[in-house]
Amino acid sequence: MKLSELGESAFLEQLQARFPQSDRVPVGIGDDAAAVSVPAGEHILLTVDALVEGTHFTRKTVPPRFLGRKAVAASASDIAAMGGDSLSALLSLIVKADLEVETLWQIIEGAAERAAELGMTLVGGNVSASEGPLVVSVTVVGTTIKTRCLRRDGARPGDGIYVSGRIGASACGLELLRKGAVLSSAGGLVVPESLRDGPIGLAEPCIRAHIDPRPRLALGRQLNERRLATACIDISDGLSVDLTRLCRASKVGARIDERALPIDPGVLAWERAWAHDATAVALSGGEDYELLFAARRETEVEALRDESDVLVTKIGELYEADGPRGCIELSRRDGTVHPLAAAGWDHFRRD
Ligand SMILES: [Mg+2]
Repeated sequence: MKLSELGESAFLEQLQARFPQSDRVPVGIGDDAAAVSVPAGEHILLTVDALVEGTHFTRKTVPPRFLGRKAVAASASDIAAMGGDSLSALLSLIVKADLEVETLWQIIEGAAERAAELGMTLVGGNVSASEGPLVVSVTVVGTTIKTRCLRRDGARPGDGIYVSGRIGASACGLELLRKGAVLSSAGGLVVPESLRDGPIGLAEPCIRAHIDPRPRLALGRQLNERRLATACIDISDGLSVDLTRLCRASKVGARIDERALPIDPGVLAWERAWAHDATAVALSGGEDYELLFAARRETEVEALRDESDVLVTKIGELYEADGPRGCIELSRRDGTVHPLAAAGWDHFRRD
């Protein structure tokens, strides 16, 4: 059935039936606004992000359930970058009236499921009709630890630069999807003939990294609680772009070491098969949703890494910026040093 056949009122009734009031939320889905309780003495963190069809995804690259999951994860990643706890989420959908109701449910249930996994409740949202592209937008409300949060502007010369997890997998997964690989909602991977000679075993983790990212909430929280990070940002638009943002905010320069970059093994294998530069993909790929942070107390960062299940790697150092504020350099494997253009995803630039 299409949304236009069901009608808005009937849809909202179904929505309220599927999402009854939760004990954790004083007023949830079904009223004009949600009411959420907030621990005393903490600040609220607010963030919103949108996935737009044709810009961030196509029907071919991200299945509906994962659209909901990814939109929630992407917004939660901003809370992780602030070192906060995620509390609740609002989902706004802009859809064509002829969208299948089942597709809409898959997006909403994906969002609710991911929110619950990340300790949040979906407390409300909105569905609007439009002839434009499908838009899935998620607002996440989080809280600081007491009144503390991690910002972009606290890094100083001499701090180390660290990144969580492995980078580049999401960009490689997107390339695999564009080349015809399909991961069904049930989880089965189907690859076209043209990809069968490649390192198939490494395809699925890359595709999963793209469609179902994992925001680093626990790590962000620990970095904040232990006062370890002097500045932090999540990698949404590409390591080089997001590092440039951090450096500009902190008025420092950065030099990163190519040999230290924790490039995902899938990226190394597939980009080699395609004769691409894996380092370039890892630096400019985007949507890794890993944390990029500056810290000075190296031994304590190593201790945190050893006790958590997330890889944390030192990839370079910050220095006094001379010349343009926030310039970054890449020290390559061959020992040469190059200024690094902030390549990656720029929402408004047209090349
Ligand atoms: Mg961010």
